[in-house]
Amino acid sequence: MRFDLNEFGTLVFNEKAMQEYLPGPIYDRWKNTTDKKEGLDRFSADAIAHAMKTWAISKGCTHYTHWFQPMTGSTAEKHDAFLDKDTNGLPIERFSGKALIKGEPDASSFPSGGLRATFEARGYTYWDCTSYAFIQDDVLCIPSVFVSYTGESLDKKAPLLRSIEALDKSATRVVNLLGDKQVRSVHPVVGLEQEYFLILNKDYEQRLDLKLTGRTLFGRQAPKSQELGDHYFGSIPNQVQLFMDDVNRQLWKLGIYSKTEHNEVAPNQFEICPIFCECNVAVDQNQIIMSVLKNVALKHGMTCLLHEKPFKGINGSGKHNNYSLVCDDGQNLFTPGDKPIENIRFLVFLSAFIKAVDEYASLLRMAASSGGAGNDHRLGASEAPPAIISIYLGQFLEDTLDNLLHSGKTKTVDENNYIIPPVSTLSYIPRDNTDRNRTSPIAFTGNKFEFRMLGSSMSASVVNTVLNTALAKELDEFSAQLEGIKYIDDIRKKALELCKDVLEKHSRILFSGDGYSSQWVEEAHRRGLPHLKSGVDSFEYFISKDSIELFEKYHIYTQKEMFSRTDILFSQYEKTMEIEARTALHMITRHFLPKMIESYHDHCETLSYAANLNVPKYLTHRIDQLATWIDQLNDASEDLRGKLKQVMDNSSNAKESAFLAHKTLVPALAHVREIVDEYEKNSGKKYYGLPTYDDILFSLN
Ligand code: ADP
Ligand code: MG
Repeated sequence: MRFDLNEFGTLVFNEKAMQEYLPGPIYDRWKNTTDKKEGLDRFSADAIAHAMKTWAISKGCTHYTHWFQPMTGSTAEKHDAFLDKDTNGLPIERFSGKALIKGEPDASSFPSGGLRATFEARGYTYWDCTSYAFIQDDVLCIPSVFVSYTGESLDKKAPLLRSIEALDKSATRVVNLLGDKQVRSVHPVVGLEQEYFLILNKDYEQRLDLKLTGRTLFGRQAPKSQELGDHYFGSIPNQVQLFMDDVNRQLWKLGIYSKTEHNEVAPNQFEICPIFCECNVAVDQNQIIMSVLKNVALKHGMTCLLHEKPFKGINGSGKHNNYSLVCDDGQNLFTPGDKPIENIRFLVFLSAFIKAVDEYASLLRMAASSGGAGNDHRLGASEAPPAIISIYLGQFLEDTLDNLLHSGKTKTVDENNYIIPPVSTLSYIPRDNTDRNRTSPIAFTGNKFEFRMLGSSMSASVVNTVLNTALAKELDEFSAQLEGIKYIDDIRKKALELCKDVLEKHSRILFSGDGYSSQWVEEAHRRGLPHLKSGVDSFEYFISKDSIELFEKYHIYTQKEMFSRTDILFSQYEKTMEIEARTALHMITRHFLPKMIESYHDHCETLSYAANLNVPKYLTHRIDQLATWIDQLNDASEDLRGKLKQVMDNSSNAKESAFLAHKTLVPALAHVREIVDEYEKNSGKKYYGLPTYDDILFSLN
């Protein structure tokens, strides 16, 4: 594929486009607004809107939309044409500053967790001028926040933006105190690795479970899956390479630096990863990447599955959130340097991170599950991090911290001890003092933390909101103790003491062993670390005392918003389970039972032909088995139906219904699956009648 660099970012209204389309003073106004130096006045807004419209129309756009992220986890848009009537009733193209800044979609059909009644359904979207407008499918998309008439936030972006501001203030404060007075701001940067599956569209179309729930509710493992490890980093199938080329071209035009692509562990599983950027933009770009993957796959006769666990028995998909903090002068605050033990600022930020994760582990667990029930199939299943939150620092940093705590140098910490030159002729090899530990939910990887628990389909917004806010709080605690100390040497001494104190109290969160082992579960229990196996177990931590205190202090969510969001989490979980149950029942009644009867009928008919012959035992045995399976499946599906009814009739509250769904529907679904999968194992293709795992996987070439 050839890509002309001049095409990069041609579908985003970025700085370059603004410089080209805006008069100088207006451009400066916009710049000041994004730097939060001043608000945008009406005149400038009108001028920007006009320029944006001219630019978008020149690219073939007819419509614009405020593009926002309601609490459904995906994005929403309502298109409006630029077309309007002038005072003489003649058609003109119009886009005012008012329309740019504020939209009014009807909010009544988006989840609000009871924040609004339908009669006060008004919701407003407001332009987030820190994320560039872009063009998708000939529509100008304006990244926006979404709030209710009464000002409560109804989306995932507004809280994230507030958390970024909070962290900026707290981090800058501590950096200044530690001596770097020239630093004016600090912002989180994020790189999101995205895993996904590709399957042929013709297979997808035949599987109601994939279409309605995103995952296969039935299906046996193929004779071969991922045991040879031959798919991971293997050569990319031609058909997929063409797809990836198309995806990259599209993303590059959208100004997204998609950089890495490779085969993942499971058959038909792949990964895409852009270069990290400012947190808010990275979260937006990840939403765009997911939508581009889906759209481009369709053009290539494939379907992109973003569900966390589309297939049983092979790895599911995640999203890795690589996170670090960068100052306005470009310094990364998580860079340890050659001698981290002397790098007080690094130690302060490291300690703050460790404390934040230990104190808010359950909130982070919540943030990793805020998308229905999908991630429950992954976490702790020996393919993804366990559901217990811990941090892996790597030997080098662990030894460093060890020495810090036991001040007399107990271990020689020389960075060179941690690398073995692979080939003697290589005089220079880049230093990497952290090894990989794939079983850890949060790993320090050189100069950033990688949070690996997120599900593939989820927005990365909530997890970053939690990380930013928790870090802001810990950093403020440092500052409060350092402020008022006169001399920098004393400040540094005190900071070091504080780090030691934090490490003594919070080192239980550090773990470098095998996170998949049962010993770790026991050990974590001994350490008093929370182990929340299912998402439903974690939702309520959103309204725990600690969470309310934290988020209220930094004005991220109001208490009302936290309660409503918790309700949404529970109700999304319940609804996901209900849809899975209904889909399974539908497939059993309309497909599997009739197929079983057909098979039974055919076998009996064969038996009747053979009446006077030597009847194979196989035939009578199969007829017996079929009769058993039919009855078993019928009973199990009646049981599932009864449980589904109980859940649906339970009108008490969202939490109780979610727990009831978790307790009853999960095992009942597993039970019907077991019977159908056993039937599949013993039946001819004709009597199964759906694409099986061996059809669906291994089908790309
Ligand atoms: P992998 O983990 O697959 O080896 P990398 O660690 O190279 O891949 O990068 C994963 C993601 O982390 C990429 O999006 C990359 O841009 C991002 N990344 C690299 N450095 C940083 C950093 N300092 N802060 C945040 N993200 C980063
Ligand atoms: Mg990685």
